[in-house]
Amino acid sequence: MAVFEHPEFDEHEQVCFLSDATTGLRAIVAIHTTSKLGIAGGGCRMWPYASDDAALRDVLRLSKAMTYKLALADIPSGGAKSVVIADPKVDKNEALLRALGRAVHSLGGRYVIAEDVGTTPADMDIIARETPYCAGRSGGSGDTTPPTAYGTFLALECAVKHRLRRGDLKGLKVAIQGMGGVGFRLGQLLVERGAELWVHDIRPEAVQRAVEQLGAHAVEAEAIYDADVDVFSPCALGDVLTEDHIARLKCSVVAGAANNQLPTDAQADAIAARGILYAPDFVVNMGGVLGAAKLGTATDEKMHASLLRIVETLQAVFTKAEAETITTHAAAVAIAKAKVGDRTTTGAGKVAAALWRNPFIARTALRVRSAIASARARS
Ligand code: NAD
Repeated sequence: MAVFEHPEFDEHEQVCFLSDATTGLRAIVAIHTTSKLGIAGGGCRMWPYASDDAALRDVLRLSKAMTYKLALADIPSGGAKSVVIADPKVDKNEALLRALGRAVHSLGGRYVIAEDVGTTPADMDIIARETPYCAGRSGGSGDTTPPTAYGTFLALECAVKHRLRRGDLKGLKVAIQGMGGVGFRLGQLLVERGAELWVHDIRPEAVQRAVEQLGAHAVEAEAIYDADVDVFSPCALGDVLTEDHIARLKCSVVAGAANNQLPTDAQADAIAARGILYAPDFVVNMGGVLGAAKLGTATDEKMHASLLRIVETLQAVFTKAEAETITTHAAAVAIAKAKVGDRTTTGAGKVAAALWRNPFIARTALRVRSAIASARARS
């Protein structure tokens, strides 16, 4: 398995393969960039990958997207991600999570772990017993799903306004793939504004809930790509916008929360060639990092104001793509890369980085941050 020659390798600063024979831990941490503070953050995905190579590809792509997302959100952290090769329903236990926590701690604060698909705030509580370099714990900045869903809704609305020139969503037809935490909440927000839903999920109970509670139309797995809708919203996993699927889409807009929807950059051209407006995934789903950083809940005024960053960014992306005749994906990457390049180190930043490397100070800082988050969420 090549790493430096891997097609998804993008000069990542560090890629660590972590194993623990006692617990069976098999994990990869990819640090794409560290900020000038020497820190990189990103969630931990636990998934029964078919091969080590599939896990490596995922972590390389996800960590790069984190760099872009955090830069666009003006959060002073580089991008990283970790993947654990395991089935969370079968293999997840306290010993495994604690072994992962010790492995993260061995990186000395360069990587701050958080939850992602297959891990939860409760899992982070266990990991935090082994390392202070752990965010997304329960009672802290809280569940990032509501701000991600609300941000996805704002992005979808913005893309619809831009492409379909309509200010309301009444009668808008939307196909959502994946009715999990984000997909279901997104569906609720759309239905509240009069939209009609077509949905698929590999869990029949998730589809049933959407049919009963949101009046959604259930469709089969492959039929979601053929649905006669205005918007296709991928909210499950990545790699769904293949050439074959793009050729079948009947929508005018693609806007969803799933990470890495494009298998490669080439599919961005294929979507544009079909005249479909693609809202880049790492802009659409920025609500998670904005929510975690700015704290509070998705519905309050502050959160709404902070999530408007997604709309501003998308508008800038659409404008740049049109002005330079490039894809929206290329425009978003260019804007993000310019922001990564903008980061400058100050004397205070260097002191902060040195303090962060001290586990006691890092733990105290995260506790204070967590307490402030809880207080703000209550008030
Ligand atoms: P989730 O695990 O709650 O929901 C995902 C849903 O997709 C599940 O219901 C699952 O059954 C379904 N699914 C899986 N494979 C499918 C397939 N092939 N077809 C249809 N459905 C399928 O996850 P979530 O928190 O709702 O996140 C959804 C997506 O958004 C993920 O790609 C995640 O990485 C991304 N995302 C989430 C957040 C967040 O804060 N939750 C932030 C940024 C990005």
